Amino acid sequence: MANKAAKNADNVAGKYYVDDQCTSCGICEGLAPDNFKLKDDGSYAYVSAQPSADQEAACKEAMESCPSSAIGDDGE
Ligand code: SF4
Repeated sequence: MANKAAKNADNVAGKYYVDDQCTSCGICEGLAPDNFKLKDDGSYAYVSAQPSADQEAACKEAMESCPSSAIGDDGE
């Protein structure tokens, strides 16, 4: 379960976020590339854009696929 009190700094505001448990595996970016990005230095992933209605399923899949449980959907 991700912790909204430990969001990383680059997340855009909103429902989805990545917290400090991210290990930069890249799975989320692969599943939802319009919404999750890895930092250029590879240090962690963050939510670059909240999903539109048709992107929601991919974000949910990314959240459920994150091996570190670092993605939350209770950001607001
Ligand atoms: S799937 Fe999880 S651990 Fe992997 S990059 Fe995304 S947020 Fe980080």
